[in-house]
Amino acid sequence: MLSDSTIAAFKASLRGQLITPGDTQYDEARKVYNGMIDRRPGLIAKCADVADVQTAVNFAREQKLLVSIRGGGHNAIGLGVCDDGLVIDLSAMRYVRVDPKKKTILVGGGSLWGDVDHAAHAFGLAVPAGIISTTGVGGLTLGGGIGHLTRQYGLSIDSILSVDMVLADGRFVTASPKENADLFWAIRGGGGNFGVVTAFLFKGHPAHTNYAGPMLWELEDAPAIMKWYRRFIKKAPKELNGFFAFLTVPPGPPFPEHLHNKKMCGVVWCYTGALKSAPKVFKPIRAVKTPALDMVGPIPHPVMQAMFDPLFPPGDQWYWKADFVHELSDEAIALHVEHAHKLPTWQSTMHLYPINGAAAKVKNKATAWAYRDATWAAVIVGVDRDPANKEKITNWARDYWDALHPYSAPGAYVNFMMDEGEERVKATYGKNYERLTKVKKKYDKNNLFRFNQNIRPAK
Ligand SMILES: Cc1cc2nc3c(=O)[nH]c(=O)nc-3n(C[C@H](O)[C@H](O)[C@H](O)COP(=O)(O)OP(=O)(O)OC[C@H]3O[C@@H](n4cnc5c(N)ncnc54)[C@H](O)[C@@H]3O)c2cc1C
Repeated sequence: MLSDSTIAAFKASLRGQLITPGDTQYDEARKVYNGMIDRRPGLIAKCADVADVQTAVNFAREQKLLVSIRGGGHNAIGLGVCDDGLVIDLSAMRYVRVDPKKKTILVGGGSLWGDVDHAAHAFGLAVPAGIISTTGVGGLTLGGGIGHLTRQYGLSIDSILSVDMVLADGRFVTASPKENADLFWAIRGGGGNFGVVTAFLFKGHPAHTNYAGPMLWELEDAPAIMKWYRRFIKKAPKELNGFFAFLTVPPGPPFPEHLHNKKMCGVVWCYTGALKSAPKVFKPIRAVKTPALDMVGPIPHPVMQAMFDPLFPPGDQWYWKADFVHELSDEAIALHVEHAHKLPTWQSTMHLYPINGAAAKVKNKATAWAYRDATWAAVIVGVDRDPANKEKITNWARDYWDALHPYSAPGAYVNFMMDEGEERVKATYGKNYERLTKVKKKYDKNNLFRFNQNIRPAK
């Protein structure tokens, strides 16, 4: 219990807002994207700047408070908000500055990907992000960052030039290949374990109008499409990304009425090569089997990045299961199809995100992200608006994962994981785990930043 005067002094030392349980904004401020999460922090510090982050970190450490760092609030298990402790909320630190000459992009630690997509597009640039533009830059990037540009430009972490951070002892540092290089290695995949990133400096890549969108086939064609896809994506040109999906066609425009609520399989493509080459690149794909729905065509990069936003508004119930996958055997495909037939709600889905191409050109040990040699990051998400369907979506995702896990790697992408225990975190970081524990000991020996997929400090 903190005294009123302690809280008042903390409040007075912040330029941003301090929200406490009695405040009218409290319930709104503690909400995260996943409607299943209902946590009640003791304090929410909406930091205005680096000085506020330092003050908040020092306060949490001195008062021995549990701390959560909130970026975009999208985390699967709601790691942006803790019970009882202090939320270091970065949502007021949203800014993007593009340097068109150097082709670099400076991004505030609480920014959303849509902020980056919008600002960079004006200069014909982009940074590899995820597939929903309301996701936070902070959490997505620090966990790795998989999306439409992965095969061409790598993971989001592969485009970080440097980060500014506040460490557990309140110090402000920069991590880059030249400064605090061990920290720079660790934050590229190690999540929020090492401190609060107040700004990211990214390399911008050329991207403007892509040839992209979903291509869907009947579920009965899924075994053949999956068998073709598992070969095709390994050899596809690096400008072509395509993640495989099982889904239900949303019951509304722009989807044709005769397909509404139909369970289907598909690939969401993104081709960033020359537009004039696109029809040729897609000719053999379209020839595999005429798609039942083909929405692939020219689309500005930020529009593509926000394409699925309306289907997944904040506040829905989400249950996640994930694994890395090296090979898709015929047996695994049969199990996938079996569970696709049982998709429990129209928002529930399964995606196989390719992490070959540029992402695989980086060695497993070069950054904390240890699964560059896997072919896909698989994610199964049970999603629905109605809390009454919580059990239904959870059971489906668990059963699906239970069936497929024996055909998968021991670890999973940290940003798609639930609270799965220390062994699973170790499996995810593999041979990099031990080095991560040493870096953790150096920069956060008392594990102040532990409300995450936690890397324990070395003994
Ligand atoms: C609808 C949806 C779509 C998604 N699509 C993709 C996708 O295409 N590709 C992909 O890779 N991932 C995707 N994700 C997963 C996403 O990467 C994670 O949920 C990620 O944790 C979200 O980051 P956030 O900042 O929004 O989350 P938050 O909940 O705010 O934060 C999550 C964790 O990240 C850390 N963190 C956040 N910001 C900072 C910071 N500035 N400094 C230090 N630590 C920080 C904290 O430790 C926190 O515990 C998706 C998630 C959702 C809900």
